[in-house]
Amino acid sequence: MDSQGYVMSGMSLLLILPTILLFMVFLDMSKAGNDENSQLLHSDKVLKTSKDLESNIPTAGKELLKQEAENIVKTGIPLSNSRKTVKDNLQNKMDQISSNYRKISGLEVECNITSVDNSEDPFSVEINSTIYVGKDNVFHQENLSQDVSLTDPQYPMPNPLPFIKCKNYGGAYVSNNKIHFNTSLAEYLDDRGIENAYAYENATTSYIIKKCPYDPYVIHGNFGYNTLKNCLENGYFHESSDGSCFLCRMEGKGTCPHYGMETFILPSNPPVFTNNNSTNISLNSSFKRAPSSIDHVIFNDTPPGTGTYQGDIFTYCNDGVNYLIIFLDNAHRMKYGLPLL
Ligand SMILES: [Zn+2]
Ligand SMILES: [Zn+2]
Repeated sequence: MDSQGYVMSGMSLLLILPTILLFMVFLDMSKAGNDENSQLLHSDKVLKTSKDLESNIPTAGKELLKQEAENIVKTGIPLSNSRKTVKDNLQNKMDQISSNYRKISGLEVECNITSVDNSEDPFSVEINSTIYVGKDNVFHQENLSQDVSLTDPQYPMPNPLPFIKCKNYGGAYVSNNKIHFNTSLAEYLDDRGIENAYAYENATTSYIIKKCPYDPYVIHGNFGYNTLKNCLENGYFHESSDGSCFLCRMEGKGTCPHYGMETFILPSNPPVFTNNNSTNISLNSSFKRAPSSIDHVIFNDTPPGTGTYQGDIFTYCNDGVNYLIIFLDNAHRMKYGLPLL
């Protein structure tokens, strides 16, 4: 009996052992499964946070560009290095955003703005950055190059240049979404010794940067110049290799080496007198020639000062009530499909 008992317990040990081993293997497997699950959760969280961070950069960029431009509109004071100012401010903003993500997610979150500079498209600014989101051995790192639009209607971007140029001549003001110069632009031009400067008394120009939809530009001459009239009424901007880019506009530069943009500056129109049934336009008291009505021509004050060239009067609307004019040189007449001199 006794010896049989020993045999039995030896046998049962042999039977139990595999069960214990199997159980241990199961335990280990379920632990590994939990690790895998948490790694998946982790990488989901990391990816989602990276995507959020990625979309925060252009939004913050637009906000800051708009803020800086609006500040110049108020003060007339240019930035000495717009690329650096916007980059530094954007870095501060992204540091705050990253710190919030760190608190919420418990992940490591870093965003490093490497540059703010011209994009190939003059209606955008390029922001380069690196982002890092991770925890333990799960992380996501990426170099980003993002084009930030200057023409997003949600972030209307003001044209800062006229406010800088006319600051010392009485300034410019905004009304009905247009920039009004009163006498400041005429005095700015006169001070530089430009001929027929006073054609620009009470001139106006575009306030918000909007891209002209009339592309190719030669169609501005269509429909009896009605396309041009619409463009001028809306204050659209056009691509231009001579016009300064947005970042240089913030530095008060009328021209720059980058591919940029141009808009029209509208001189005041000749006075119209209505006498009973006849309408007389007093062209005698008006200018036949004046600086070409393109902003990079008018604001090109780089010494020796030959950049502001004259253009001949061009009547784009004469319907008995309105008599609307601009001054244009041949190169710009060609660009916009208008009759040459
Ligand atoms: Zn246009
Ligand atoms: Zn530039």
